Amino acid sequence: MRARFVDFHVHLDLYKDHLPQIVACDAKGVATLAVTTTPKAWDGNRRAVARSTHVRVALGLHPQLVGERAHELDHLLRLLPSTRFVGEVGLDAGPRFFRSLPEQERVFTTILKACAGLGSKVLTVHSVRATKKVLDLIEAHLPPDRGRVVLHWFSGTAAEARRATELGCYFSVNLGMFETPRGASIAAVLPLERVLTETDGPFVSMDGEPLKPGQVEPVLDRMATARGINAQALNRAVLANLGQLLT
Ligand code: MN
Repeated sequence: MRARFVDFHVHLDLYKDHLPQIVACDAKGVATLAVTTTPKAWDGNRRAVARSTHVRVALGLHPQLVGERAHELDHLLRLLPSTRFVGEVGLDAGPRFFRSLPEQERVFTTILKACAGLGSKVLTVHSVRATKKVLDLIEAHLPPDRGRVVLHWFSGTAAEARRATELGCYFSVNLGMFETPRGASIAAVLPLERVLTETDGPFVSMDGEPLKPGQVEPVLDRMATARGINAQALNRAVLANLGQLLT
């Protein structure tokens, strides 16, 4: 079945009912990328989606966990040849994680270089208060012909968005971005041919309830309104962009 929606960043394994959620994503036709935060979650996630038609798993080591789990980098590198999708990876320079930033940079750089060496990887990348550094490392270590990057929950400036676009990056937009005026205005000006949708569930909520995997209609509505276009037209663009990303 062709995909009808795209949820390119969801923490599926953090839902208690994740197995029925996988079935629901398949039934709804949501091309779903289940990100992981530690390589230890890889095997379990792969087993969970073994029979799924629309859900894929990304191999990750979350920057917020690098402080305690940098030693899991070797595990990730061993698994890397067995996956096309990588994430959640990246940098977080927020106050709670600032201390591990040098270690995060070492881990992210190693992952980028390994992806460039293997080729054809698609990465979903976290960048909190570290957009410039993330783009510097991507530019230095992962040329566009060696791998593709999707910046998840982009929080940089318009100038940084232009730089990321020039570097070949895509942007997966979620509802949380519309909670700040700057996030909302950036989501309105990202190049249409580079935008994807994501829930980042269960970390993003609507009306006090975490979004379900694949529940991207609210972000389509918000982003379409912000851009002055129709939500169906935006969704068609997102589906076409996913096709481009995966060529
Ligand atoms: Mn996430």
